[in-house]
Amino acid sequence: MTWPTVQKDPEDLPVPPNLEEYRSARVGFTWDEARAALDGLPDGAGLNIAHEAVDRHANGPNADRTAIRWLAKDDRVRDITFRELAELTDRFANVLKDLGVEAGERVFLLLGRVPSLYIAALGAMKHRAVVSPMFSAFGPEPIRQRMEIGSGTVLVTSRRLYERKVAGLRDQLGSLKHVLIVDGADGLPPGTLDLEDLLAAASPDHRIAPTDPEDPALVHFTSGTTGQPKGAVHVHEAVVAHTATARFALDLHPDDVYWCTADPGWVTGTSYGIIAPLALGVTMIVDEAEYDTERWYSILEEQRVTVWYTAPTAIRMLMRAGDEPRVHRDLSALRFIASVGEPLNAPAVVWGQEAFGLPIHDNWWQTETGAIMVANFVASDVRPGSMGRPVPGIDVAIVHRVGDDEHPGVEVVEEPDVEGELALQAGWPSMFRAYLDMPERYASCFRDGWYLTRDLARRDADGYLWFLGRADDVIKSAGHLIGPTEVESVLTAHEAVVEAGVIGVPDPVAGEVVKAFVTLYPGIEATDELLRELRGFARKRLGPAVAPREIVVAERLPKTRSGKIMRRLLKARELGLPEGDLSTLETPYDATPPGAAGTSAPQGAGEGAP
Ligand code: ATP
Ligand code: MG
Repeated sequence: MTWPTVQKDPEDLPVPPNLEEYRSARVGFTWDEARAALDGLPDGAGLNIAHEAVDRHANGPNADRTAIRWLAKDDRVRDITFRELAELTDRFANVLKDLGVEAGERVFLLLGRVPSLYIAALGAMKHRAVVSPMFSAFGPEPIRQRMEIGSGTVLVTSRRLYERKVAGLRDQLGSLKHVLIVDGADGLPPGTLDLEDLLAAASPDHRIAPTDPEDPALVHFTSGTTGQPKGAVHVHEAVVAHTATARFALDLHPDDVYWCTADPGWVTGTSYGIIAPLALGVTMIVDEAEYDTERWYSILEEQRVTVWYTAPTAIRMLMRAGDEPRVHRDLSALRFIASVGEPLNAPAVVWGQEAFGLPIHDNWWQTETGAIMVANFVASDVRPGSMGRPVPGIDVAIVHRVGDDEHPGVEVVEEPDVEGELALQAGWPSMFRAYLDMPERYASCFRDGWYLTRDLARRDADGYLWFLGRADDVIKSAGHLIGPTEVESVLTAHEAVVEAGVIGVPDPVAGEVVKAFVTLYPGIEATDELLRELRGFARKRLGPAVAPREIVVAERLPKTRSGKIMRRLLKARELGLPEGDLSTLETPYDATPPGAAGTSAPQGAGEGAP
């Protein structure tokens, strides 16, 4: 199924685009130039993310610009300027120094989206500690797992989170030396320190020590969509890619009001929810609260958000909520919308056009890539359903793995429209430098100078990339390789369907056949007639070999906390197989038939991972 291309004319854009013409931007780009656009530490002392994100602006003409506008759950608003952020992060760096924490030690963060999270992340990087933000809704076991793999020595958290989740496993966290409580004023749990006291006692003057661009800065855990989450290590040099890609793929300009809805517990919420906007001197909105349709539209309206970066699952929730909450809003400040995390089905792109007068711009990347690799750009035509084209500085190929374990290789596919694995030429600045504790797994990601993504895609004749599915999720049916995305896109194009998750189930004749789980718009009943119609709708567009043999209506689909459909869990449940690591599962999954569990099942907006 194809949707009409959304044509762009750079002349019509309200702001001159950072990337005006795709081909010339690619040809003219070098990473050295992107590096040169950064400040670097004074006296050639290297490159440090926190210097680029904070001190650079605090020492310049924009010191009093708002860096972070924090919207509390209770509707309080706190503005933090670059100057204030510099002082707070200097103090935090000094707190670590005073505690005797060494460069390279790992500081874990377990906090909601509160100012202390941002201060601790940037302050720790000033001290050259390695930051690992964890999503605050994790239970004790995922916390223990991550802190153990990461040998965390410092944990910054709140009293409530500590008491509920960490205190009980404290004796299992052998490496943990210091627990800093951000809201300890009314009493501290035993064995913890009051961060406010420490900040007040620390010196407000700090100078970042020489930082090698290859020094580790961050550990991010993957979403755990396909298995156990892996800890990807990123270095300070990554900021070169964060800033360049945010300019190109998010079109960030210094006077933007920018809102990234992702939580820093996932890489999107750090690369584009802390580092890139601040390094570009942009004011960013941080909302402490979880997804809420009314709240989200009111933030867009009242904060005059100009650039908005969100996720497909959130967009589908807004679509599901209908027009009513939106039509009375003045969203005229909005000029660019982007999405990442899982396939953005074509109907969602088109919905953006209807709802905001702007298509949603899909982009693709991974925890491992650290930054956006493939994107739809503000001044380029959008082909709904396509992830777009590689950002300047990134070379991609569609490859097939060849050879054997002894002599692994890849064959690069030159012709367009051939399905294969998406590969990236290794060596970009934000490429992960290791998986914690998994050197072999890391090594196996690279072949012949290519980083292999385990995502399947095809490239059309004009270089646009189309996502087919993860290698793990591909369905082999009667000699066809079927990417779940293709089937899900068609199902979501039916007016009754909000979202779809597609898996392969064993079949004695075909090997596997396609089975689909769908959720419906409110008020639509899962009648036999509707199911028949859906099967016909899919068969007509996909052909009998690819269309789902069976379609089941579910109240909701199992998702990771970052908002991705967990197809492996659908499959494990279907086949009665072991369920594997569920540490990132959003809500316990129970495929309750619609109607049986009330009107609306609990569902987050996805906290945003690529
Ligand atoms: P794990 O590696 O633990 O299984 P994960 O791959 O979901 O989890 P992330 O690094 O957060 O962890 O997500 C990256 C993956 O998300 C990509 O490899 C891809 O499968 C999917 N993804 C991201 N953006 C897009 C997109 N625009 N379209 C389709 N898929 C996307
Ligand atoms: Mg992955």
